[in-house]
Parts: sequence; C-alpha cells; structure tokens
Amino acid sequence: MSEFYPHLLSPLDLGFTTLKNRVLMGSMHTGLEEEKNGFERLAKYFAMRAKGGVGLMVTGGIAPNKAGWVGPFAAKLTSQKEVKKHRIITDAVKAEGGKICMQILHSGRYGYHPFTVAPSAIKSAINPFKPWKLTQRGIRNTISDFAKCAALAQEAGYDGVEVMGSEGYLINQFIVKKTNKRDDEWGGSYENRIKFPIEIVKAVREAVGKNFIIIYRLSMLDLVEDGSTWEEVVHLAKEIEAAGATIINTGIGWHEARVPTIATMVPRGGFSWVTKRLMGEVSIPLVTTNRINTPEIGEDILSKGHANMVSMARPLLADPDFVMKAMQGKPMAINTCIACNQACLDHAFEQKIASCLVNPMACHETEYEMTPAQTKKNIAVVGAGPAGIACAIYAAQRGHEVTLYEAESEIGGQFNMAKEIPGKEEFHETIRYFNYQLKENKVDLKLNTRVDVDYLVGKNYDEIVMSTGVAPREIKLEGIDHPKVLSYVEVLRDKKEVGKKVALIGAGGIGFDVAEYLTTDSLPTIDHFSKEWGIDQSLSTEGGLVPEQDDPPKRKIYMLQRSKGKMGGKLGKTTGWIHRLSMKKKEVTQINKVSYDKIDDAGLHYTREGESNVIDVDNIVICAGQVSVNNLYNSLKEKGLPVHLIGGAFEAKELDAKFAIDQGMKLALKL
Ligand code: FAD
Ligand code: NAP
Ligand code: SF4
Repeated sequence: MSEFYPHLLSPLDLGFTTLKNRVLMGSMHTGLEEEKNGFERLAKYFAMRAKGGVGLMVTGGIAPNKAGWVGPFAAKLTSQKEVKKHRIITDAVKAEGGKICMQILHSGRYGYHPFTVAPSAIKSAINPFKPWKLTQRGIRNTISDFAKCAALAQEAGYDGVEVMGSEGYLINQFIVKKTNKRDDEWGGSYENRIKFPIEIVKAVREAVGKNFIIIYRLSMLDLVEDGSTWEEVVHLAKEIEAAGATIINTGIGWHEARVPTIATMVPRGGFSWVTKRLMGEVSIPLVTTNRINTPEIGEDILSKGHANMVSMARPLLADPDFVMKAMQGKPMAINTCIACNQACLDHAFEQKIASCLVNPMACHETEYEMTPAQTKKNIAVVGAGPAGIACAIYAAQRGHEVTLYEAESEIGGQFNMAKEIPGKEEFHETIRYFNYQLKENKVDLKLNTRVDVDYLVGKNYDEIVMSTGVAPREIKLEGIDHPKVLSYVEVLRDKKEVGKKVALIGAGGIGFDVAEYLTTDSLPTIDHFSKEWGIDQSLSTEGGLVPEQDDPPKRKIYMLQRSKGKMGGKLGKTTGWIHRLSMKKKEVTQINKVSYDKIDDAGLHYTREGESNVIDVDNIVICAGQVSVNNLYNSLKEKGLPVHLIGGAFEAKELDAKFAIDQGMKLALKL
C-alpha cells in the first residue's frame, strides 16, 4: 500500500490486466487529432503523462465512421492506414510503461457538418445542422462500424476502448425520449431505446475477445428534460455489464444542458454522489468524474466508497506529473487545474489546439522544450503577477540567476483580486503553486520592493523583464470624485464598504466578477449548488432536474455599458453562458447603449436613446477596463538597457492570464 493517498494509488486488478493506480485520464479532444504531425505530437503528450504515472489514459474521441465526425474531416479509425498513425501513440505510451484506451465517439446530431445522423431528425439547440434519421440498416451498419473501429484500435496497440455513451452524443440520443421518437424496434419503450448501446458493447466484445478493456461512459445524470430516470440508469448499467464492459465511467450532463458541470464554480467533486448511488448495483469497477483536481479530493472520494476509480482530464493537462508528485507526497508541487476552460475546452470549441492556462506547454510538448541556457545570465523581472512569475520560473529552470521584484507584500498581481470572487477560489491554488516553484527554483524574490529606473540602471543586469501589469482605467465624468464612487480594486482588494444598491460602470469580465462578488456569499456546498441549479439529488425525476431554488441576491445591482452588444458576449465560449445566467438569477439589471452624464448625491445619471435617467444607488463601482503600466519600460529603453515587456504591461486590451503566462514562458525560453 502506498504511503500517501492509499486509496488513490492502490492498483486495480481487472482480471486480465492490472492498472497501477486508480487515476484515469479522461478523454479530451485536443485538436491535434486533425493536425499535421498531430499523432507525433499526441505521442509525446501521452508519453509524458504515462511517465508521470497515470494508471490508464483515454484518447480524445475518434469516430467509427464519417457520419460520426465531430466536425468536417475529424479523426476517425476505419482503415489500416489510420492504424499506422495510432501506433505512434501506443508505442510511445508503452515505452513509458503506460496504458491507453481509445475513445470511440459518434457525435450523432452534435456533429458540426451536414452529414450528421441521429435516431430521429431533430436538430439540437446548440448545432445549426439538422441530422438525418438513421434507417434500420444504417443502425446495424453503425453498430458494425463501432466493432470494426474497436478491432482496429486493438490492432493499433491500444489496451482497450471507451465507448462514448454520454454527454448527449449519438448513443445518448438513442437512449432518451427527447431525441428518440422512433416507432420501430430501436425506439418507443426503454428496452428498445437501450438496444443500441447494448448491441454496440456486445459487438465490440465479440470483435476484440476477452482480454481487452471496454470502458462504457454512461450518462448517469442527463440534466435535460425527458432524460433517463435513475431506475433506467441502473437497468442500463446492468445490461452494459452483461454485454461485456470491463469498466463503467460516469457521464454528467449533455452538452446542451443549462447546468454547469465542470466549470470553476462547480464545487470540487460535485457529482461523485451520483456514481456512489450506482456502487453495488454492478460488479465491474465504476469511475467517477467532474471537478476532481487534487489528490486529496480523489483520495476522499475513493475512501468514502463513492467509486473505484477517479477520472481527471484537465488536471493532467495542467500537470503531467500529477500522479508522480502525489506518489512522492508532494501535493504542493502540483500545478492545479483551476477549471477555467479558457485554454482547453474553449479552444476545442473554437477549433483551436487545446492547451492550458496554467501550463502553456500542454499539447505543445514538441514545440517548447526546456533546454538549459547556453550562457547563464543575471536577470531581473519586475512585477510578480502571472506574466512575471511564469517568466521567472521558466528562466530559473533553464539555469539563469533570477531576481523577481514585487511592489506589494505578496505575489500574484491581479490573481489576488480574482481569488476573492465566489466561484473563482481556485486562483488560490495557482498562487500557492507559483510560490512553491519560485522557492524550488531559487528565484530571489524581493517583496515590498517597488523598483525605479535608477535602481535598475545601477545593477547591471544582463536582461530586464518588465511585467508591471495594468492599472484600472480612470474615466472622465462629472462627479467622479464623489464619495459614492469606488474602483473595483477598492472593492475587491481594499474591501471598502459597499451599500445595498450599486451601479457598475462597465460590463466586461471584471464587471461580471464584481457583480458576482457583490451578490453572492461564497462558494456553495454541493447541496447548495444542486439547489441553486435545480439538480435533483434524490434522483427521482427524469433527467435529474427540479425547479431551481435561488437565494435572494445580497444587493441590487445595475450593470451598464455604452455599446449596444449583448452583455458578457466576449466571455469564454464554454463559461460565458453560466455567468450570463447567473446574473439573471441574481436579478441584475443590465442597461446597454448608455452615455454617462454625471454622478451626484442622487446617484448615477445617464442618457439612453435620448432619454435622461438617474439610478438611485449607494455606490458606483468603476469597472471600465485597464491600461498598461509601462512607463518604467519606456525610460529604460531610452537608456539603451536590454529590456523586455510582457503581460498587461505589453498589452492591456483583451489581456487575460492565459496570454500573460504564455508570453512569460515564451520569453523565458528565449533568454
Ligand atoms: P498583473 O497581474 O497586473 O501584475 C503586475 C504586478 O507588477 C503587480 O503585482 C504589481 O504590484 C507589480 N508592479 C507594478 N509596478 C511595479 C514596480 N515598479 N516594481 C515592482 N512591482 C511592480 N484572467 C483570466 O485569464 N481569467 C480570469 O478568470 C480572470 N479573472 C480576473 C478577475 C479579476 C477580479 C481581475 C482583477 C482579473 C482577472 N483576470 C483573469 C485577469 C488576470 O488576472 C490578468 O490578465 C493578469 O493578472 C495579468 O498579469 P500580469 O502579470 O501582466 O499583470
Ligand atoms: P473589458 O472586458 O475590456 O471591459 C471593460 C468594460 O468597460 C466594458 O464593458 C466597456 O464597455 C467599459 N468601458 C471601457 N472604456 C470605458 C470608458 N472610458 N468609460 C466607461 N466605460 C468604459 O475589461 P475588464 O472587465 O477590465 O477585464 C480586463 C481583462 O481581464 C479582460 O480582458 C478579461 O480577459 C480579463 N478577465 C477575464 C475574466 C474571465 O472570466 N475569463 C474575468 C475577469 C477579467 P463600453 O465600452 O461598452 O462602455
Ligand atoms: Fe484547467 Fe484552465 Fe488549464 Fe483547462 S485551461 S486545464 S480548465 S487550468
């Protein structure tokens, strides 16, 4: 038994093979599947995670035929030519002593192309393409295609396959009444609707023989109207076991569900209670999933008997050595996934290569190599926000001598405000990780040190990196000095008192965050989260949905912007809808197309469509964007010093931490 995390790190005997621990790296589409040299890049990506000790990995979704493509020309496995490409991955994983399954994903009506098929010709609200109804022959052929695809995966050297039966993809579309309106043997009764997954698992087992892993990803909580009942889920699980599956993995929520399932405001381990309900109903191992991002939470879930394994996907993008660090008893060394979706899921949905906000090397392992510096340099980094810290750590790892100057008493820059937002508590983890790495890599950190030109000129540094970040934009408006007016920094950092009625000038990312901060108490418990988003913890309704029970908002908020577009339209693709829905639940009044007139004792005066208005509020909080702090850089440049500019100091417009950290790393690799 392992000294640390004994449940998480104990082996799992599957009869014909043993997994070295209980960590499954869940399937993630990276975009490399369709990229030139993508399989070589995937090989390195998976090999690094195998080396890092993951028990079993699952690839991104691979289609069993063209109709099952997630998008035009998406990855599929239907021929010998494709088998050869997959061998590059399996050989690399085996060389590191790892195990890997290939996920077979038929997207059904979620495919982003005109040839999609489904049990019935019903368009999804999140996809412009209406699917074609599968004929009975088409259904039989699709089942054969799954079996053929699995046999080819076996030939390619995979240890198994995962049959994707959840998240609202084709198999799920057959199971649920909402999308299956057939009146033949594949529709109507529940028995008929689950024939499709059962026949698939049987056909796959027949094609691959006994000693090959078949994971079935089962939608245990659809979170859509007319979804499966819990009795149906249990029934299906038993049938899937009987059909020959080795492991059942948990699926939570269809892509079109309007309940957050993996974003950062979901409490950690927020859905393991669902898998727990299935424990004991089948005898094969169960995997639980969603928002498990530390070894402690994985250990806790397993020790309480909620599942036999835990699936972590994004946490292994964030840190390929997660398991190894857990084995060494060094959780502080883990680069924790903050569940922001900004570089992984958002990229996947924007048809870009996935990566990770806190680990820009992810999915770029063959491009950015950490080579030792040819010449050891003495480097100063000014500003310990995300950009400066990333640059300092990577430069020190390459062997440079690095001094990091920070004006404040703590590192983190604006992350120290982000971490105050309810639902963004994970930013604490990144600051913890940054602190650990700065120490580990012997970066000379000088806190409470605001440096100026004279100081730096006198030090003779080989390179000076300016990462002095941003400052709130100051706006010109009559009454801007009124005592009612606060900046977001005064609210979030200085904790200035805020009244019950508040107007926010500006509705960007920070405007939305401030509104959340002013209306919400703190990160809710799992029970509270379930109530707020209408999740039926008793599992007695179809799809697991009940009416939402919102707490009354703590304050009345008015959010204003000058432009006419939708508020929060520029927020992340996979999380923006949650923030927008949250504002609705908190009864935030949104007013666009305004021009601000003045602020006085009566409140905020503005004009909209020619009409003058005043909002009677206790405070007006300015969230009107930011400007670069780069005066120091300009002065040093004039003096001819070797100076570089990164992060918000380089560009404040549309700056986010993904850009800041990525730019910091890229500069460090060049110094
Ligand atoms: P900063 O974080 O501004 O750091 C600059 C540092 O330099 C500061 O610590 C400052 O004290 C120091 N400094 C300045 N001048 C000197 C000097 N002369 N000497 C010494 N030190 C100096 N981004 C996301 O991607 N996702 C989010 O969800 C997100 N949420 C946010 C929520 C809030 C409430 C806020 C305020 C920001 C959020 N951001 C988010 C934005 C993100 O935090 C910034 O993009 C990022 O911090 C910029 O990093 P930076 O290193 O360039 O600058
Ligand atoms: P922002 O997104 O650019 O929004 C600025 C807001 O201020 C806009 O609503 C804008 O609307 C308004 N504004 C701009 N100039 C103004 C002026 N002169 N007078 C009055 N209003 C003005 O900037 P931000 O909200 O400060 O966020 C900064 C960065 O942090 C963003 O780029 C974002 O990427 C990042 N961030 C990200 C998240 C996240 O969840 N991913 C969260 C927080 C912050 P009008 O011009 O229409 O009035
Ligand atoms: Fe996690 Fe964000 Fe990285 Fe995605 S981008 S893996 S959510 S930290």
